[in-house]
Amino acid sequence: MSIADNLQKINSTVPNHVTLVAVSKTKPVSVIQEAYDVGQRVFGENKIQEMVEKYDQLPNDIKWHMIGHLQRNKVKYMAHFVDLIHGVDSFKTLKEINKQALKHNRLINCLLQVKIATEDTKFGMSLDELSSILDSEELKTLENVSINGLMGMASFTEDKKQIKKEFNFLKKTFNQLKNEYPELTTISMGMSGDYKIAIEEGSTMIRVGSAIFGLRNYI
Ligand SMILES: *Cc1c(COP(=O)(O)O)cnc(C)c1O
Repeated sequence: MSIADNLQKINSTVPNHVTLVAVSKTKPVSVIQEAYDVGQRVFGENKIQEMVEKYDQLPNDIKWHMIGHLQRNKVKYMAHFVDLIHGVDSFKTLKEINKQALKHNRLINCLLQVKIATEDTKFGMSLDELSSILDSEELKTLENVSINGLMGMASFTEDKKQIKKEFNFLKKTFNQLKNEYPELTTISMGMSGDYKIAIEEGSTMIRVGSAIFGLRNYI
């Protein structure tokens, strides 16, 4: 199947309130252009340098999402164009994003990454850590970042019940926080292997790579 076919197939099953982020990490610009040509506008990358190179070569109405773990010293390279940063997992990082956004007189949208997987290798914060960021007085001084929601990655497992449980936990956490912070609107959860479960559990944004572009040689 072609990229166009894959996109059409996925889009036909994804409800309108769910945004499809096409995860193009490791894929060349020619392949991204193919998806762009059939209407895809939101792309996700997990390495800042790679995203910057692609941004420079591709149409400027693409919305670039940073989905990977952030290296604070590299935030400056994407601050002039990044549309949404999914994986914010510390206040320090948020401060750096704010500082760089200010230099470009921009507001950068961010999601806070929540640890929902049982694996130690996955990044993310606990509910206490999330609340301490959202409640902090200092957050109000960061006028160039906007926290729009939460992001999570489920365990790498075939156990669908386990995945469902983890997504459900993220949705519950989101609902709980939304009572206090109505500005939270986005729940980024679901990848190629589990986006259907994620949507059932309340995802509003799915990050899909291999189901669109085929398998990658490396992560
Ligand atoms: C690579 C990646 C994805 C996409 O993974 P696929 O299984 O190829 O859909 C989604 N989210 C994050 C954070 C990723 O790093």
